[in-house]
Amino acid sequence: MKFSEIIGQEEVKQRLLQTITDNRISHAQLFFGKEGTGSLPLALAYAQYIFCTQKTETDSCGSCPSCIKMQKLIHPDLHLFFPVTTTEKIKTKPISSFFIAEWRKSFLKNPYLSLAQWLENIGSENKQGNISVEESAEIIKALNLKPYEAEYRILVIWMAERMNIAAANKLLKVLEEPPEKTVFLLVVEDYDKLLPTIVSRTQLVKITSLKEKEIAEKLKEDYQLNPETATQVALMADGNYAEALTLIEKEEEISSQFNLFITWFRYAFAGKIPEMIRWSESTAGLPRESMKNFLQYTTRMLRECMVIRYHINYLAKTEGETKESLSKLSKFVNEKNIIPLTTEISKAIADLERNANAKILLLDLSFKIAKLLKAN
Ligand SMILES: [Zn+2]
Repeated sequence: MKFSEIIGQEEVKQRLLQTITDNRISHAQLFFGKEGTGSLPLALAYAQYIFCTQKTETDSCGSCPSCIKMQKLIHPDLHLFFPVTTTEKIKTKPISSFFIAEWRKSFLKNPYLSLAQWLENIGSENKQGNISVEESAEIIKALNLKPYEAEYRILVIWMAERMNIAAANKLLKVLEEPPEKTVFLLVVEDYDKLLPTIVSRTQLVKITSLKEKEIAEKLKEDYQLNPETATQVALMADGNYAEALTLIEKEEEISSQFNLFITWFRYAFAGKIPEMIRWSESTAGLPRESMKNFLQYTTRMLRECMVIRYHINYLAKTEGETKESLSKLSKFVNEKNIIPLTTEISKAIADLERNANAKILLLDLSFKIAKLLKAN
């Protein structure tokens, strides 16, 4: 994977390139970014850049023997570790190497792969993937090998927060006395779950969420989506490219999410109580996770209304018919009610997480929204 294939993240790319120009490649680096931000592709592009024999100032060449092996993830000095579970085929003590062929295939198909997608690909049947103590024995085994071809050997541990405590303690020992010519790239989504003693021994590479524009551009380029759909998907994905890809697989959901939002607010504004009740009942039938996503999406749509209302065009994210509908609604969303509206929605999300009755919660929220929209 070349840096140029990765969406956005220009600042991080520059910082990584600089470590090589300055010849100060830290032996343990923590790539920390939420799901779908590209932390794993960045770590692998960095590894490819380190190995490349004909690198330019800004990227690996993509065609030297090292790059060719890296692009298939078969470079002998690259060692990959990731969460696994027992499956139909692997009944006990699963480790990464049993699944390496599937992992390569999954990553090459989608470098923005999420953990949930990966576990689904191997048929984990809702089991949580983890990195076991058997895996840490494999890590130590990899350290006993001398680099074959490159100056360094690079160990990439994807979702390192999934290490169990025994595995983490073994890794800590290694990081305390780092072997020569070895680079650890730990890729995590949530480093609070990592041992603090591990975190303190690594250099942090912080990866931010992708911008909606970056996601929309990539979708237009790679999937030929029209600008309006691309923008809608990007808004729903909330900076997570893995999520954007999941969404375009179910295209009807994209327009239905917006319709769900706009009909809800129309009923609320018009004070149509029977319709609000029906709306709440049918929306309460969605899976809880979808309901939460929908409410988060609602908040972003309300912010968009503010942007349209005050003609802050450079911040506007929607286009076409969507923008027109929001523009009508934006007459009722203003600086007086935007905060109470978004606060009520955030409270509802928190209540959903606490397993509140969804039907009552949505109806109650509908009444509150109706009141807030009419208050001005
Ligand atoms: Zn190369």
